[in-house]
Amino acid sequence: MLEERQQQERGSDSPMCLNCKIKMEKTILKMHFPRGSLPVEGFKCHKCRDEIIDARTVEEYQHLAQKLGLIIVQPV
Ligand SMILES: [Zn+2]
Repeated sequence: MLEERQQQERGSDSPMCLNCKIKMEKTILKMHFPRGSLPVEGFKCHKCRDEIIDARTVEEYQHLAQKLGLIIVQPV
């Protein structure tokens, strides 16, 4: 029998730092665009200060930045 897995998205699951193998802490980072920056929820390693932003969040913010005119989309 197939059971559909429920997606658990509670946001409490911190990713691991690939360098230090410790859990990263949730923090607010700044995402930079050609015409400005936006505050975005990301994670930071308190040991090596590596910062990461979830790929899906990056995508969302790229769309948002486009709407806000922070990214100039050039037709190819
Ligand atoms: Zn680290």
